[in-house]
Amino acid sequence: MKNILLLLLVSLTLACTASENTPPEPDKPTKIIFLIGDGMGLSAVSTGFYFGDQPSVFNRFHEIGLQQTSSASHKITDSAASGTALATGTLTYNGAIGVDTAKVSLQNIAELVASMGWSTGVVATSTISHATPASFYAHVEQRSMEEEIAVQMLDSEIDFFAGGGRAKFNERADSTDILLLAAEKGFTIDTTSLPAPGSLNGDQKYGFLPQAGSMPSRRDGRGDFLPDATVLAISHLSQDQEGFFLMVEGSQIDWAGHANDAKYLVGEMLDFEKVIAAALDFAEKDGNTLVVVTADHETGGYALGPEVPKEGQEGYSDYTVIEPVFATGQHTATLIPVFAFGPGAENFKGIYKNTEINHKMVALLKGE
Ligand code: MG
Ligand code: ZN
Repeated sequence: MKNILLLLLVSLTLACTASENTPPEPDKPTKIIFLIGDGMGLSAVSTGFYFGDQPSVFNRFHEIGLQQTSSASHKITDSAASGTALATGTLTYNGAIGVDTAKVSLQNIAELVASMGWSTGVVATSTISHATPASFYAHVEQRSMEEEIAVQMLDSEIDFFAGGGRAKFNERADSTDILLLAAEKGFTIDTTSLPAPGSLNGDQKYGFLPQAGSMPSRRDGRGDFLPDATVLAISHLSQDQEGFFLMVEGSQIDWAGHANDAKYLVGEMLDFEKVIAAALDFAEKDGNTLVVVTADHETGGYALGPEVPKEGQEGYSDYTVIEPVFATGQHTATLIPVFAFGPGAENFKGIYKNTEINHKMVALLKGE
């Protein structure tokens, strides 16, 4: 008996020694940059391979997975349910922002990291009160309640926001100008332009609302608003020594898909690639930043087909020319790629539900 106990003790000691000698796990991320291309399916991701003038930024990722996007109510999700799934890790009904199927508020990842002392930001080219960004700070029963969502922004833990939708704050149906309340809620609001990175005070909260409605499309003169706002957000939020969470949405990839407008889509995708490049450049230097890029769903059934055969032409189309086609003006249910870089990126391999993306990020930031 004594010998058995001794053997047990020795093997336990050996087991402990062995685990002490295994190489340490990579540090858990202290910063997460979550990039959502609304409506961005695999053909949209392929844009830089055929329509870009430099190598696609997606070549920089080595950890890639697929997510399935159905909501609790529909096989084909909308951006509210999928935004909520990504932000909170819980499936809900189409139209819901930050609430579950019983319309009860869910904690989102921005609120979770704020409770850990991290700073948070959201950036979009839609109105900032639109479904995708709203999922990261608001809780309402229907996505159409954008003026209520704007109220909730000013009461939220968000430290930096930039996007369209000023009118949801100061040209409201209830005739109130809630931008007048922004200062007492701790926000400095700029309704004109983005300042240079490095010019913002780390202890303050900022909102940038240069347009009454959505930001213009890239094609209609938006310029580099989205990559510039991303760089400004990173420069502001990275002043927080604890860490930060930033969500940036390429909002209008979806709108190009709904419009079945390939040129619009290519412009929005190449713009979103600049955002991804800026995030990866920061993450490579930083070493503790997890970058996750995905979509909420696909839009348009966008496909990179060949040039359509000419009238009277026999046989195959011309396979030397890509002429994109669309299968629908709506969302589709196709699986969506997930790209990850940085500490814990390997956890994003595989095929899983959209809610798992949230669960994986939360597990990593908790060091689980
Ligand atoms: Mg969206
Ligand atoms: Zn859509």
